[in-house]
Amino acid sequence: MEKVTPFDTALATLNSYLLEHGMRRTLERTAILRAIYDRKVPFTAEEIRQEMENTFRVSLATVYHSIDLFLRLGLVTCHTFGSTLCYEPSIPLRDHFYQVCVHCGTVTRVESEAVTEAISQTRFRRLHVASVALCAYGTCSRCQAAITKAHNRYLREKEKAAAKKK
Ligand SMILES: [Zn+2]
Repeated sequence: MEKVTPFDTALATLNSYLLEHGMRRTLERTAILRAIYDRKVPFTAEEIRQEMENTFRVSLATVYHSIDLFLRLGLVTCHTFGSTLCYEPSIPLRDHFYQVCVHCGTVTRVESEAVTEAISQTRFRRLHVASVALCAYGTCSRCQAAITKAHNRYLREKEKAAAKKK
């Protein structure tokens, strides 16, 4: 038996929705869904459009329209990294989260069995959970070092200025 991939599951959900609502199945939409599920890291709508340039030319508006529908169907999860909206496939339920440095915007993926466990143990209220998006915001070690260095320099200059006054 052939293995069912997350993309197959997502496409089946999409196609049943389109059928149910009398909407057309378009090659563009399928290609965008495929491009999304092929990606291993979160992406912006513009990145997906650029990536598809060589295979299937679509407009940014079409990408946004499709992502909108995928979000409603729970096929795609949206993250806000700083002021940038990023997306990633929702299937299967994620066992990772993202840490975001609020200073330089660096995004790092963190694998966590504890998070998966906590999510699976959580009793959601009258909600069929399609995806969970988790982000931890803070200061990365590189930015923290720069902040500490700047702070120390400020303190030294303040001391110097105080010494001069005496
Ligand atoms: Zn940083």
